[in-house]
Amino acid sequence: MISRIIYIPFDHLNMSHGALAKANPKTDLVVLIESKRMVTGRNWHKERLFFMISSARHFAKELETQGFQVQYIKADTTIAGLEKAKKSLGKDVPIICAEPSSIKQFEALQEFGVDFVPNDFFLTPRDLFRDWASKQKSFVMENFYRLQRNRLGILVEDGKPVGGQWNFDQDNRLPPPKNYTWPAYLEQTRDEIDVEVAKELNHELATTWATTRAGALAQLQHFLKYHMDAFGPYEDAVAKDNWAMHHSLISPYLNNGLIHPSEVIAETIKAYKKNDYAIQSVEAFVRQVIGWREYINGMYWFLGYEYREANALKANRTLLTVFKNSQATKMNCVQGVVADIEKRAWTHHIPRLMILSNLALITGVNPQEFLDWMRENFIDASEWVMVPNIIGMGTYADGGKLMTKPYPAGGAYISRMTEFCKTCVYDPKKRSGDDACPFSTLYWDFLDRHRETFKMNHRMAQQLKGLDRLSDLDELRDRAKFVLKGLDKGNI
Ligand code: SF4
Repeated sequence: MISRIIYIPFDHLNMSHGALAKANPKTDLVVLIESKRMVTGRNWHKERLFFMISSARHFAKELETQGFQVQYIKADTTIAGLEKAKKSLGKDVPIICAEPSSIKQFEALQEFGVDFVPNDFFLTPRDLFRDWASKQKSFVMENFYRLQRNRLGILVEDGKPVGGQWNFDQDNRLPPPKNYTWPAYLEQTRDEIDVEVAKELNHELATTWATTRAGALAQLQHFLKYHMDAFGPYEDAVAKDNWAMHHSLISPYLNNGLIHPSEVIAETIKAYKKNDYAIQSVEAFVRQVIGWREYINGMYWFLGYEYREANALKANRTLLTVFKNSQATKMNCVQGVVADIEKRAWTHHIPRLMILSNLALITGVNPQEFLDWMRENFIDASEWVMVPNIIGMGTYADGGKLMTKPYPAGGAYISRMTEFCKTCVYDPKKRSGDDACPFSTLYWDFLDRHRETFKMNHRMAQQLKGLDRLSDLDELRDRAKFVLKGLDKGNI
């Protein structure tokens, strides 16, 4: 006899966590809802839609094999789907869901009367993070991360960090290696559910992303076996001949629930001990999982919904053409990175931050337009990930709530950490002139445009001093106007 509905959003696909942790197949009806709004409400990347829908349908099937009664409902909205599920039972029963991962969904479900159980898809309870954040003067991730290491007992022995340091970042900044053979990627196998979803979406079936827990676990093991040891040194580099390098490619599965951070960490530590992997690599990966990921999610909830709308630098340029079409630019780095996204809905953190967000920042693209584009185009782009990353870190739209300064970069950084510049029509060393690198031009123009605002920030003093020393500022300003116009038109 059914006495409860358990609602499973598409990012809670886990049998052992969330609302399913204490579910009973005899008395619970499990409901998943593929809402029209979710599918057609935004200009989603098809690979992302395919991943989310196929994962959810596989999960629904898996629940049935575990003996659960499952309804996979197609409806206009989530709420309409839940009404449909209630109606099908012919009686009023409570609806249970783990606290949703987005503020808007939380409010909508709360208003509908859904009862929540705590969201345990992270290692840090929301109130514990709130406690930490409310005591901070500035939200330094490194401080939070060290607390996490101690609190969770990860890579800590007798209160001291394993390897003698908490952070090995200074060892992990190598440019792309030369004459290097990257291990092959895991190609995912496809089944009839994948084929059906791809057909419905009119999407070409690719084999990059797993749509089952088994596939996600296989990806984790593949990373731990072939990539973990060398992950650290090249984690910030961008190679031209390899789209993933040594990155784990597991964020989509962590973010939709197929795997849990606790098992990722347990497996990582096991592999580290068994294989004696380099501590600089293991620590860097652990930091991403127990540090950055938890910190960003915590900050999303701590800062609240209004934070999403911040635009401290009054950046109002329409989204650049190149974000929508990789061929609308001659900038080798931007073209290469956007082409990767068009193909797989993914690039690692450095192209996201130092190429895409940097471009949005220094051209003055409206942060909300850029945020929407990032949300729509990345396979792992949950609201909680993208809002702090774009509004805080990427575009400094929050005026310094998250980071103490903006992080604009010119061509020199991209030239050092990527292989794009060698074959680019532009010269990363030039800031003015016809073949000047647009990043180098716009870096200085950005500082110049916001000189008054940044004057108040002592952490920007060095950069403003550099600006004062430029002898070609007038020429650079003219070039910047030309470049910005060209980026709008899509011919730079
Ligand atoms: Fe990008 Fe400038 Fe390098 Fe060209 S020269 S690849 S535009 S950073």
